[in-house]
Amino acid sequence: MSAILPGATIGILGGGQLGRMTAMAARSLGYRIQVMDPDPSCPARFVVDACFEGSWDDARAAADLARGCDVITLEIEQIAVASLQAAARFAPVRPGVAMMEIIQDRILQKNWLLEHGFPVGDFCAIQSEGDLQAAVAALGGRCFVKSARGGYDGRSQVKIGFDKTANSAETAGQDAWRLLGKRPAVAEKALDLEKEISVMVARTPSGDVRSYPSAANHHEQQILAWSVIPSSIPASLESKAQDIARRIAEKMSLEGILAVEMFITRDGTLLVNELAPRPHNSYHASERACVTSQFEQIVRAVCDLPLGDVFVVKPAAIANLLGDLWLDHEPRFDRALAIPGVGLHLYEKHIPRTGRKMGHLSAIGETPGEAVDRVLKAKELL
Ligand code: ADP
Ligand code: MG
Repeated sequence: MSAILPGATIGILGGGQLGRMTAMAARSLGYRIQVMDPDPSCPARFVVDACFEGSWDDARAAADLARGCDVITLEIEQIAVASLQAAARFAPVRPGVAMMEIIQDRILQKNWLLEHGFPVGDFCAIQSEGDLQAAVAALGGRCFVKSARGGYDGRSQVKIGFDKTANSAETAGQDAWRLLGKRPAVAEKALDLEKEISVMVARTPSGDVRSYPSAANHHEQQILAWSVIPSSIPASLESKAQDIARRIAEKMSLEGILAVEMFITRDGTLLVNELAPRPHNSYHASERACVTSQFEQIVRAVCDLPLGDVFVVKPAAIANLLGDLWLDHEPRFDRALAIPGVGLHLYEKHIPRTGRKMGHLSAIGETPGEAVDRVLKAKELL
């Protein structure tokens, strides 16, 4: 395998904040960047050489993007297989099409994890309303029902059995099936969580593998609220989590980076939640905490350069800034930035909407706890 050296052009399928931050790191290394996105004024627009307009299933636009590129990567898993294949006629697509096909379908992804011996929580594949009714009963009444395709930030998910005042399990199943558009889904037993972590792992086409120390992630309404590196979990769990992430990367023949989201249950069991084959919100703090950020690492990985060091120089945390913060008044960034160690990262999204990720704050600290306290304090001041 030969390295794709700076000066070459990298194409990214998707031009949201993940594509934007990847593009900024790639530019810094001296690459040229093109993206494809349905929105011609997407966040990456302002930092790339060219932006091709096209939806995720627009194979022609994907081919147009790839024609001028030396390598193609992506920032979202929902790119249609036909688009990935169209791009692959012109440039290597990393991560590869076979791996993307498995990951972009929750049913295939869960079954793959199970078949390869990775620990996952109890789940049932759902193809019909009847399947869902049976699954709710089999999983003990409380579950998360997630569309097989297309969800993120808790979207395309319905919780069943949490609201004591709600109607019967049967109507809850009917409602969930209808709300999710009567499409294939996965029903997962609701787990009693002690902590959520993720491990980012990188692998090059030449087979070099590196995994970052785990991040601890705090969700509110199924959306990541804040995250910190390192996670401070016990060393025995950390080594298990590292081992799982690295083995998944090897078994999938990953070319690029992959975030492995994991649950730690109250009884101390480590389970894989889901896989994200791209930069991940929970590793935004790697820009501040680690020698090599996840954005530089994906560039190194897909270009088959030596992977960068992943050790933590200083603990760092991030807090997401959702559109809700803009509803009243423009956030007071001046106040937040007055706190020592705090940084601001905005994605140049022009329309703030409830639940929409507009940017994040970051902070370093002497300890992970101090980094979290600082970033949350800064957010309060907005
Ligand atoms: P998304 O693609 O939206 O990130 P996830 O499957 O990661 O979907 O779910 C989002 C969040 O919802 C998780 O990070 C976790 O906080 C919560 N969650 C999801 N599934 C479960 C479950 N089976 N048990 C408990 N909490 C869950
Ligand atoms: Mg998730």
